[in-house]
Parts: sequence; C-alpha cells; structure tokens
Amino acid sequence: MPTSALMANYARNPVRFVRGEGVWIEDDEGRRYLDAFSGVAVSALGHAHPALVRAVTEQVQQVLHVSNHYEVPLQEELAVRLRTAVGFDSRVLLCNSGAEAIEGAVKLARLHGNVRHGGRKPRLVALQGGFHGRTLGALALAGNADYRAPFAPLAPVDLLPFGDAEAVERVVGHDVAAVVLEIVQGEGGVRSCPKGYLQHLREVCDEAGALLVVDEVQTGVGRTGAMFAFQEEGVMPDVVTLAKGLAGGVPIGAVVATPEVADLLVPGLHGTTFGGSPLACAAALAVLDVVEGPGFLDHVGAVSAVLEDGLRELFSGREVHGRGLLRGVRVDAPVSAVIDRARQAGLVVGPSAQNTLRIAPPLVISADEVAELLERLARAVGPVSPLAPA
Ligand SMILES: *Cc1c(COP(=O)(O)O)cnc(C)c1O
Repeated sequence: MPTSALMANYARNPVRFVRGEGVWIEDDEGRRYLDAFSGVAVSALGHAHPALVRAVTEQVQQVLHVSNHYEVPLQEELAVRLRTAVGFDSRVLLCNSGAEAIEGAVKLARLHGNVRHGGRKPRLVALQGGFHGRTLGALALAGNADYRAPFAPLAPVDLLPFGDAEAVERVVGHDVAAVVLEIVQGEGGVRSCPKGYLQHLREVCDEAGALLVVDEVQTGVGRTGAMFAFQEEGVMPDVVTLAKGLAGGVPIGAVVATPEVADLLVPGLHGTTFGGSPLACAAALAVLDVVEGPGFLDHVGAVSAVLEDGLRELFSGREVHGRGLLRGVRVDAPVSAVIDRARQAGLVVGPSAQNTLRIAPPLVISADEVAELLERLARAVGPVSPLAPA
C-alpha cells in the first residue's frame, strides 16, 4: 500500500470528484453520479448553484477576510436573518464548523451555570447515539463510546437513553447546566426523537433551570422540510447550533441563543480568527435567500414525500428513518458494501451508525431526480438483495 503524506483518519472511497452541477457530480474519469449524500448534508443547494457561485465570486473580489477585530456588516445581516428564521429573540455567534458551534454552546452553558446559578451546575447531559463533533468538548457529548474512549479522560457527561421520557426526569436535576441533543440523529442511525419528547425535555429543563441546546448542525436550514427541526415540535430551545448546510459548502458554524444566555458573552471570553468571515456570511446569505424563497420549503416537503414513499416501497417492511431529505434505512449487508454498489450504479450515498444507509440529497433535487435516485438505489440493492427482512 502506498504511503500517503496524509494522516489515515478517514476510510475514503476510491473516487475523485472534480466538478458538479445541481445534484450531479462527476469524477476525474468523466463518470457522472447522482449525489444523494451532499458531502454529509452540506451541499444544500447542490453543486455550482448560480446564486451561491455569484455571491461567493463577488465577495472574493471585494474582501475575503478582515477578522473580528473589526465590524463585519455581513455578520450583522446574517444574524438578523437567523434570528428571524428561528423565530425567537436571540443573538448569534459565528464560527467555522459544527464542532466549534457545539463548543460555543457548551461554553455558554458553563457561563450560564457559573454566573446565573453560582456554579451549582457542573453536569452536562446528552443522548445515547448522539453526535456533536470531534473536538474534545464536543466529543465529551458523544453518545458513542468508541469515539470517546481513545481520547479519555473527557469532561464528564451523563447520557440519556434515546427517547426515554422516564430517564429524563431521573437524570436532569438542578445540577445540570444543559441538555444537548439532535432531533434527528444524523450520525446515530438517522433516528428521530419520538413525538412529544422535546416538549417533555423542555419542561424538565425549565424545572431544573437547565438550558435546552438543540444541535441542528445537520437538520437545520430546511433539511427536514422545516426551516429548523425544532419548529415542528412546538418547542423553543435556549440555544441552537448550526453548520453543515448553512453556507452550502463554505465552512461556517453558528450558535443562536436567547439574550438571557447570549448576553453573558463579553469581550475576551470567546472568539475565533476565521469565524464569520465576509466570504462565509455572503455564502450563508445566498443559501438563506434560496431556502427562504417562495415555495422552497414546500418543494422540499413534496420531494421528501416522493423519496419516503419510494424508500418504503424499495425496502418494504422496513422502517424508513428520518425526516424530510434526511433519511436512513438499516441494511443487513455491510453498509459499506451497499455504498460501493450504489456508487457502481452511479449514486452517492453515505453511512450512519447501526449499519444504516444515509440518504441526504441536495434540497434542490427535483421529483424526477428523486425517481432517478430510487431507480439507481434499486439497482444497487438488487437483484441479490442484501436486504432480506430482519
Ligand atoms: C456533523 C455534525 C457535527 C460536527 O460538525 P463538524 O463541522 O464536522 O465539526 C455536530 N453536530 C451534528 C448534529 C453533526 O451532524
């Protein structure tokens, strides 16, 4: 095996993508694939979307980076847009990735516990199967021991069994600073919280004086068919984290928090060199223009229904997990083998935990392209079905 100059921390698929347009992506041998993974739910507008290309190009020609030592009007503009989009009074902290957004959220929770509750909130709670990124702080919240164990010791975090309402009351007491969770566990098997679970968490957090932090790094900005997944639960979190799809492929992260929490951050307490660069803000504003445009979320809802119906038919008898354009199906063959066969059929899909196939196409996918996706997926999983009923 040739020795790479790169560290070996990724099990990469043997394909090199060089260009794309819409949901289509092409490799260096000229083969075209339907991209139903979006680079881990990032390419929300697909590839080379004209509005995103224009916004990024124009911004590069103006100024790429100025640092947070100066005012950045595009940050203000983006913050107002995000505040309006979440629908509750809030302020925004911009950073560069999902893990960094989680770090920001956890630091806010610590500050909140220390300043507003006199340090009587040493504990953090997360969910089994949850994923929040790979920095040491975010890793401490991981609901997968295999990710955590090699890097122990980490900050102590108590894990709630996924969706178990009774455990919430037992675990979330007055010494808890925050409960951090995803509404759909993108990396954790694309499992969706049961109805009413978030509402229950909200009530228990209120009782305990704990912050409710909803990690929408993967679900946010239209992925589930709503602007944010929490909005379908009728529950207001204290903190929302965003990243993946927010700037359509330009690195960005955001923490949106109520003033009660956000106003604890004063100069000197937190910061980032790159966070909120004019480039990232311009890209995010272009994405929001599209996703908040007339009829766009209705479009996502409509193609999601086509995808869901098609997946149910194809994997008949099995549960199709997830919401909107974030879907998972558990397979019996090793998920990597199914991903390989899909690629041979000209379809890019990804993995999730528990041997689950993850399907997360760009939000701009058309109904015809969903039909094409399903056809290619059918070719990948048959005729020798790796999907015999469990
Ligand atoms: C991907 C992801 C993260 C981490 O984001 P990075 O940009 O990889 O650091 C955090 N939370 C959720 C829910 C994610 O899906």
